[in-house]
Amino acid sequence: MNIEKILEYQALDQVIYKAEVEYANSDENKKYNALRARAKACSEQLIKLDHETGDIFKELERKEGAFADFGAEIKSRPVSTPKNLDQAAKSDDALIKLEENLAALEKDSNRLFRRLDEISRESQQYFSQFMKLRGEINAANEARNEKRKQILSGIAEYGIKLNELKKSIDPKDLEIYQKVRGAKVKLPIVVEFKDGNCRGCGMHIETELHGKLQNPGDIAECPHCRRILYRK
Ligand SMILES: [Zn+2]
Repeated sequence: MNIEKILEYQALDQVIYKAEVEYANSDENKKYNALRARAKACSEQLIKLDHETGDIFKELERKEGAFADFGAEIKSRPVSTPKNLDQAAKSDDALIKLEENLAALEKDSNRLFRRLDEISRESQQYFSQFMKLRGEINAANEARNEKRKQILSGIAEYGIKLNELKKSIDPKDLEIYQKVRGAKVKLPIVVEFKDGNCRGCGMHIETELHGKLQNPGDIAECPHCRRILYRK
């Protein structure tokens, strides 16, 4: 790698990087991200409620089946008068049991209907919250775009210089640099390997880099911070 060139490139890129960090940490961008997170939470709640509604409808369908079974059972009962006391008592017991089951079924169904009412109210609340957030997100997005423009206009000349410089750098070197840059490693990316240490993260890595960085232009990856190391 042409270390001198890439360090020159990095010096310019650092201005751009600083601007990126400034933008990422700006109140405008943070507000936008916070609103987006709230909207996401809102839509997740809506999806959850939608699934619950589906489950309740399935359960109600089963209850309806159970009601129909009761109806069939009652219809199938003989209407003949019991022949003795024992038979009458047995018939009473069966009837009581049937009534109890029916009451439980009704209670369950009512509980489900009440929950459906609640879900409908909750969904409406989340939905209006979501719509309100959408408006706020649009406004926040405009504000952060304005901020971005403002920051970018301050560093425009560096961008131009960087593009100019790019032409004189070996694309392979640039590719290595950009790969690390894209991996969200904090700048500087290209750092010196000195006294057995990575000057990026400060870790002692002499043994891990055994035999590497022998010739000028040699590079190695820091096993701790993934930065590109060179030796002066
Ligand atoms: Zn390191």
